Amino acid sequence: MQSFALPLAAISLAAAPSASSGQPASKEIDRSHIDAKYKWKLGDLYASDQAWAKAKAALRKNVVAFERHKGHLGDGAKALADALSELGGLQNELQRIVVYAHARSDENTRLAPPRAMRAEADSLSVQLDTVTAWLRPELLTLPDATIQTALAEEKRLREWAFYLQDVLRWKPHTLAAGEERIVAMAGELGIAPSTVYGVLKDADLPYPTVKLSTGEQVRLDPAGYARTRALRDRADRVKVFQAFFSALKTFERTTGALLSAQLKAHIFARDAHHFPSTLEAALFRDNVPVGIYRRLVKDVNANLPTLHRYLKLRQRMLGLAELGYEDLYAPLVNQVDRRYSVEDAVTMTLAAVAPLGPEYNKKLAHGLQAGWTDFLPSTGKRAGAYSTGVYGVHPYQLLNFNGQWDDVSTLAHEAGHSMHTLLADERQPFSTSSYAIFIAEIASTLNENLLVHQALTDARNDHERLALLGQRLESLRTTLFRQTMFAEFELAIHERAEKGEALTGEALSAAYLELVRRYYGHDQGICHVPELYGDEWSFVPHFYYDFYVYQYATSLIASTALTKAILDGQARGATAARDRYLDLLSAGGSDFPGNLLAKAGVDLTTSAPFLAAMQEMNAVMTQIESILSSGPAK
Ligand SMILES: [Zn+2]
Repeated sequence: MQSFALPLAAISLAAAPSASSGQPASKEIDRSHIDAKYKWKLGDLYASDQAWAKAKAALRKNVVAFERHKGHLGDGAKALADALSELGGLQNELQRIVVYAHARSDENTRLAPPRAMRAEADSLSVQLDTVTAWLRPELLTLPDATIQTALAEEKRLREWAFYLQDVLRWKPHTLAAGEERIVAMAGELGIAPSTVYGVLKDADLPYPTVKLSTGEQVRLDPAGYARTRALRDRADRVKVFQAFFSALKTFERTTGALLSAQLKAHIFARDAHHFPSTLEAALFRDNVPVGIYRRLVKDVNANLPTLHRYLKLRQRMLGLAELGYEDLYAPLVNQVDRRYSVEDAVTMTLAAVAPLGPEYNKKLAHGLQAGWTDFLPSTGKRAGAYSTGVYGVHPYQLLNFNGQWDDVSTLAHEAGHSMHTLLADERQPFSTSSYAIFIAEIASTLNENLLVHQALTDARNDHERLALLGQRLESLRTTLFRQTMFAEFELAIHERAEKGEALTGEALSAAYLELVRRYYGHDQGICHVPELYGDEWSFVPHFYYDFYVYQYATSLIASTALTKAILDGQARGATAARDRYLDLLSAGGSDFPGNLLAKAGVDLTTSAPFLAAMQEMNAVMTQIESILSSGPAK
C-alpha cells in the first residue's frame, strides 16, 4: 500500500480465502422500520444528501486548483509545506465524501440515487489521484538536501517527515518521467488477467447443481460451495467436493493461462522498477523484510506435526474411520443453540476487551451507542461487515447482525478495526493516521481472541466449551496453516516463472497437489487428498493480488502473541504489554509496520511469536482431549 492511500475509506480489506461467503437469504425487512439506535449516524458527516452534493462540487474545484503547485515543490520550504498541507486537506475531505456516499449506497444497494452518489464519489477519487500523479515523481527529482533543509526550516512539514522519507525510499526504483508513464500505461494491461479471471469465476463458469440427501438442490458456485462443504452428512460433502472440483478442472487450462499471465505482469513490474525478485518488489511497498515471509513458510513446515495432531483429533471427534480432504470444514460438535441480541453482543464485546484497559473500554462503549454502527440487516443492504472511518469525525461500521455467535464475533472484530482508527486519529496528524493492512488485521483478530477467552470463562457446559475451542483450532488451521500454504504456493510459482518456466494449468495443479498433500499428511495416512483437489488453486482470487495472503498468517501470529502477553500481564496486575499494544494502535501509519510491531514486543524476524501460537494450539488440543476423556459432551 502506498503510504498516502486513503485511511481505509477506499480500501476494502479483502476477506481471507477461507471465509464463507454463503449468506442465507433474508426475509424482507424495511429499513425505515428499524429503530434509530441500531443505525449509524451519517449526519455526523453531512446534514443531508444536498449538503454532500454541495461539498462534492466544492472539492472538485479545489482538486483542479491543486495543479498550480506542479513544478513548484522545489521552490522552498514554504512552497512544499503549502502543497502538502493542501493535499492533506483535499484527501481528508475526499474521505468524508467517499465514506458518506458508500454508506448511503450500502444502506440499500437497490436504490439508484445513492448508487449514483457512490459512483460520483469514486470518480472524484480517481480524479484526485490523476491530478496529483505528478507529485511523487516531482518529489523524487528534488535533491535529498533540499528536502532535509525544508524539513528543518518549516514546522508544518514535520508531520510529513515520514511520508517524505517513504517517498524517497523509492528513488532507486523510479525511472525517468516518460518511462514511468509507459510503465503506468502497461499497468492497465497488467490487471487484465485478474479481470478476466473474475468474470470467468463469478459469472461465466458453468457451475454444477447437486441434489443433497435432504432433497435440496444446490448450485455449487463459490458461495454455494463455501456453504455446503461444511455439511454434517459425509456423503453430501463428498458429492459437493467432487462436483465443484470437477467443474474447476474443466477450465484448468484457461485458469492456468490467466494466472501465468498474471505472474508475467509481476515479473514485468519487477524488471521495470529494478527489483531482484517479484517477492522483494511486492514486500518493498510496506518495507517488510523478505526474511519474514521466508521464515513464516519455514516455521509452518517445521510445525506440520501440530497440524497433523489436530487432524487426528478432528477424525476422532467426527467419528470417522479415515479422514479425507472433504472432512476439514464439518463442525467438530453440533452447533450450540443460543441466540444473542445486539445488546448482548455489545455487553459481551465490552466485557471481553476489559483487559485492554478502562480508556479503551470507555471509548468503545461510547462509540457503540453514538452512531458508529449500522447493526441490523434490511432489504437491499450490503452483505457482510466492514469498518471504515473519517479522520476528524469517527469510525463507522456496517454489520448484518443475525443473533448468532458469529455475529457477536464479527462485532468484536470490526470494533477492533474501529478502535484502531479512533486511537490512530486521536494521536496522529492526518498524514500518518492511515495504517497498513499488515497491521490492520491484528487489531481485529486480537479482539476476537479476547472474546473467545471471555466466552470460555463464561461457558455453561462442556458442549459450549468444545464448540469454542473447536472454532479456535479451525481459525488457527485456516489462517495459520492454510494461508501459509497459499503463500508457499505463491512464492514457488513466482520463482518458477522467474526462471523462465512456462506454467500451464496442469503444472500448477501438480505443484499445488504436492503441497497440499505434504501439509495434510497424505503420504503418512493422516488425511487423504484425492488428485482432483489439486485444482483448488484455481478458485483462490488472492493469487492475483501479488503476495497478499501471508499477512493473514502474520497478523494472527502477532495478535495471538499480543493477546497472551496482555492476558498474562493482566493476571499479574501488570499493564506494560497492554500499553505497548495501545501504542501500536495509536501509532497508525507513523512508521513501517515491522518497526511498529517490534516496538509492541512482536519480532516477526524471529520464530518466537510463531512458536507461541503453536504452543497455544497444542494447549487447546490438550484441553479438548481432557474434556473428551472426562465423558460424553453434554
Ligand atoms: Zn478485518
